[in-house]
Amino acid sequence: MDTNKSLIEKVHFQINGNELFSFHVKRDDLIDPIISGNKWRKLEYHVLEAQHRQKSGILTFGGAFSNHLIATAKACQIAGLQSIGFVRGSELSPESNETLRACSDFGMELIFVSRDEYRLKDEPFYRNELALKFPTFYVVPEGGKGYQGIIGCQKILKETANNYDNVYLAAGTGTTATGVVLSANPNTQIHVVSALKGEFMSKNVQNFLYKSLFDEELVEDYLSRMIFIDDKRFGGFGKVNDVLINFINEVYRTTRLKLDPIYTGKAFYQLIEDYKSGIVKSSDKILFIHTGGLQGANSWKDKLDYFK
Ligand SMILES: *Cc1c(COP(=O)(O)O)cnc(C)c1O
Repeated sequence: MDTNKSLIEKVHFQINGNELFSFHVKRDDLIDPIISGNKWRKLEYHVLEAQHRQKSGILTFGGAFSNHLIATAKACQIAGLQSIGFVRGSELSPESNETLRACSDFGMELIFVSRDEYRLKDEPFYRNELALKFPTFYVVPEGGKGYQGIIGCQKILKETANNYDNVYLAAGTGTTATGVVLSANPNTQIHVVSALKGEFMSKNVQNFLYKSLFDEELVEDYLSRMIFIDDKRFGGFGKVNDVLINFINEVYRTTRLKLDPIYTGKAFYQLIEDYKSGIVKSSDKILFIHTGGLQGANSWKDKLDYFK
């Protein structure tokens, strides 16, 4: 994957029709239309690990519209690896939607499992069963999390000046946020905008940090540089309303940036709200990390202007 495409762009966003708010955007969405943004960051070292262990392929997990599943399918095709995707929902098939069809077209073997079975995906006994059943496959956890995922995400800020006062990014598992804080300038405040409702994101990141640092004091130091925002405003994962859709259309009309309604649209919305309420200012050095994920916008095709 060519991460040179992932340039930094200065964006000027009009607030209330006159005032201009300026900041930088790290365009990881340009890395690849499918293996987009943080999904490549998280997969890069997993793919190397699979090759290093001389595995024939990668086995991983995802929901019906998973950005991670489709990114894995294409990354494996490019790397000459086979791929197996365990999909949540035994009622589904490769024809159920565009994401699953594309996974299948990239050569991924899809195995549809019940929600009860899917819930076991991180249990040691279940992993042992998988290892026995698919001995030549390297297992990547849902969302590409884990040590390799965190290492890969540490590259994002290293491709920037890394001198920001504030960095904004969207979060699902918190893997990307962990890699970002571990590689950030100590004076940078990281605003982690969760795509989910609930207060658990800081716990996720704390847990990932501990597994990377083995030191509680260091973990607390990194955590103190982070602000966690959960999705109270829109109601949780995949919840989308007209305010958000109109906002995404406005951002596209005025900046040409394409945001998806699940992750980056909500994170960008938070940045603009924080500007309006004075939490960040135009004179601050601000970076928004565009984590990609546009294929996840397909479900709102008829409402989003950038599809027209
Ligand atoms: C998957 C995804 C995320 C979540 O990343 P985590 O590392 O799991 O927190 C954020 N943004 C986009 C666009 C994604 O596809």
